[in-house]
Amino acid sequence: MAGDLPAPGARPASWWGTAEPTSGAAVPTGPIGINGSSLETLLECPRRWFLSRRARADAARQSRASIGDVVHLIARQAAEVGLDADQMRAELDRVWDEIPFETEWLSATERSEIDAAIGRFATYQEHEPTTLVAVEKDFRVPMNVEGHEVVLTGQVDRLERTGDGRIRVVDLKTGRKVLREADVLDHAQLGLYQLATRLGAFDDVTGGVRDVAPPALAFVRAGETMPALVSQPSIDDAPQLPGEELTVGPSWVHDRIAEGVAIIASGRFDAVECGACRYCPFASSCPALAAGAQGRPK
Ligand code: SF4
Repeated sequence: MAGDLPAPGARPASWWGTAEPTSGAAVPTGPIGINGSSLETLLECPRRWFLSRRARADAARQSRASIGDVVHLIARQAAEVGLDADQMRAELDRVWDEIPFETEWLSATERSEIDAAIGRFATYQEHEPTTLVAVEKDFRVPMNVEGHEVVLTGQVDRLERTGDGRIRVVDLKTGRKVLREADVLDHAQLGLYQLATRLGAFDDVTGGVRDVAPPALAFVRAGETMPALVSQPSIDDAPQLPGEELTVGPSWVHDRIAEGVAIIASGRFDAVECGACRYCPFASSCPALAAGAQGRPK
């Protein structure tokens, strides 16, 4: 009917990713938050970071469990109350139907892979020669970056004490892609967790110990009997990356955080073509991809 308001969602301006985030975004006035799990995305493609934060806020209102959520939940319970592999699988039985699958076949295939992943995690829990300090430990620690007040935030899956008394962060990964050590040399999430440890984010559970052991990603879908562990050098031992000069320092992690802070402080969230374009949920409306397609020969 003429004069009626359009149906909710019918305006292109309300569709995900079509609003242009490269200008007019609010420049923060208070401390700038840098989150461990999203720093890599911010550095890789600011537009994807900006839009995925909005998308996550929306998804949180309608979420159902994912495989990652379920594995993390069970790993947490296993650490807190000492579940063995059979008890973890019993927990998996209880919550599996909460995970949406498109087909029965997919559910069965995934279930068998996650059963195996649970087995690897149980072996890790039993045999890894470290002492568990905390699981799913939230942190929030302030720092100053070139005159900006910054707050590092996040949650580490496992905090462990190694034989030499240092603190190791272990992040559980439930995806299929397994990284190599060369890929995680400058892994921003692990780096940020190291720096948070150095800044005292976990003092309440580590007794003030801030010496960092090499943190690791634990790929629970890979490995023979244990998850495939892929470690990053400790910033205590190697503050600088091979072949890269420090710009802010005193470690490469400070440099990465300074880059992220500069992007957020600028209020500009440009699209940057990268490896993530292949699976980016905002690709269909992406100005960088559209510009690239225009420039290619027909
Ligand atoms: S498609 Fe690529 S360039 Fe565009 S927002 Fe996504 S990751 Fe960034």
